[in-house]
Amino acid sequence: MGDKRLTCLECGQLNRVPEDRLTAGARCGKCGQGLVPADAIDVDPAILEKAKKNDDLPLVVDFWAPWCGPCKMMGPEYAKAAGILVGKARLVKVDTQKHQSTGGRYAIRGIPTMVAFERGQERKRQSGAMRAGQIVDWIRG
Ligand SMILES: [Zn+2]
Repeated sequence: MGDKRLTCLECGQLNRVPEDRLTAGARCGKCGQGLVPADAIDVDPAILEKAKKNDDLPLVVDFWAPWCGPCKMMGPEYAKAAGILVGKARLVKVDTQKHQSTGGRYAIRGIPTMVAFERGQERKRQSGAMRAGQIVDWIRG
């Protein structure tokens, strides 16, 4: 019931989205970006911090890097999982080569590593490449 708070992954604006519009192309009131993407998009660490703290939907982050073979293999699978979980969780990615201090901040020791956040708290993490079905099960579990 009621509205869900969602941070725009593009501009960082905090939006309120009626629950029944979560899968119906809700857009950011400030920049117009879709708030519930059916894809896993790369986010800026500053946006990650805001979304992690304020969002009412679970936020899952894939810490990856362009040089990492297993990360590249998992990329399309992770994107597929994002499509399956539209409206249930948002899946984002952080490039740890570009944002090295963010990887350090979250104590990422190997990649790919997925970390699931709910209302500002880390709920769990998992290292190693997985297939879409496994990712969905892990997030739901
Ligand atoms: Zn926006």
